[in-house]
Amino acid sequence: MITIDDFNFENKKALIRVDFNVPLNENFEVTDNSRIKAAKPTIIKILEDGGSCILMSHLGRPKGFEEKYSLKHILNAVEDELGVEVKFVPDCIGEQVENVAAALEPGQILMLENLRFYNEETSGDKEFAEKLSKLGDIYVNDAFGTAHRAHASTTIIAQFFPNKKCFGYLLAQEIKSIEKVMTTGEKPVLAILGGAKVSTKITIIENILDKVDDLILGGGMTFTFIKAKGGQIGDSICEDDKLDLALDILDKAKSKNVNVHLPVDVIAANAFKNDADTQIVDVYHIPDGWQGLDAGPQTLANFEKVVNRAKTILWNGPLGVFEMENFAKGTIALGNFIAEATKNGSFSLVGGGDSVAAVKEFGFEDQMSYVSTGGGAMLESLEGITLPGIAAILD
Ligand code: AMP
Repeated sequence: MITIDDFNFENKKALIRVDFNVPLNENFEVTDNSRIKAAKPTIIKILEDGGSCILMSHLGRPKGFEEKYSLKHILNAVEDELGVEVKFVPDCIGEQVENVAAALEPGQILMLENLRFYNEETSGDKEFAEKLSKLGDIYVNDAFGTAHRAHASTTIIAQFFPNKKCFGYLLAQEIKSIEKVMTTGEKPVLAILGGAKVSTKITIIENILDKVDDLILGGGMTFTFIKAKGGQIGDSICEDDKLDLALDILDKAKSKNVNVHLPVDVIAANAFKNDADTQIVDVYHIPDGWQGLDAGPQTLANFEKVVNRAKTILWNGPLGVFEMENFAKGTIALGNFIAEATKNGSFSLVGGGDSVAAVKEFGFEDQMSYVSTGGGAMLESLEGITLPGIAAILD
């Protein structure tokens, strides 16, 4: 894998695709700077080599120019995080930008205006990509969050830098973490898939069955499996058109010698609300009028044993409705099990949407080996897709 470590950036201009699509409040202040922090090691390495950085990113989903999506709003946050002055130009292509970029000295940083002010960015326009490419000597992709999009700045641009393109540290780390789960990880490999629906995870499950020794299925999607196996699931969430598919998955897992671990008990509630009445019930005998909203104690004890013996762990999706305090306990317990396994030397990757949110909310972020920065990009990677932004560098 070719990374920025394979280049000396002395007197070179690095054109870096970063993911600075950060959340802003109504005063246009950055409320979570983790994406800026995540890009820092790459930027610092290039500056320390004696190079300069031209940062390009998108922010939000503007339709043409919209002031509220201007990257000027995040300039202070970027400067604060990097501890270096950052120049800004109110465009990302054209003569003015080219002049400022050309005058950039070693050690300096320039941030371009929001790429998505041009529709050509998302349509993957080749001419637009070529205009961007004029600004730098070496192209660095460090934006995992958009690596699954064949946009001008994430994919198309790479063709204008033959032998002068590479991954930044962040993207390289994402790729290595996925590889650890998919190919190089120490056995036993465990995948924990939770969340609401089987339908959104089906391709991941099918792809992952060839890679893992154990598969824990949790959260709302398990009720489709339990019903398919003849259980009474009361009013629990279920995809009735996926019952055959659920049985098919269980058969496939068996034929591939994957141990599937389903819940045995649940915290059932008489309404979908935090202060509903609850009871612990056998997952195969949930009474009518009740719905399973979190993992039960025996289930958690079983899952703990499986997590404890795993050497490589992937976690995607919560075990319950963690947004409600009373049904977050299973997800928190699982976070603790994985944190403990990680402390004991296992590799843990948390990726894709809601489990990342849960890990952040409950303070587990620093206790996992790696927490992915890309939702959709991580999900597509787990589905076995080579992301266009990654393929373009490897080409
Ligand atoms: P996903 O985006 O597929 O990972 O699903 C995450 C969502 O699944 C979260 O919003 C959870 O509240 C929801 N979820 C997890 N367990 C359950 C459950 N037992 N019943 C209903 N929703 C659930």
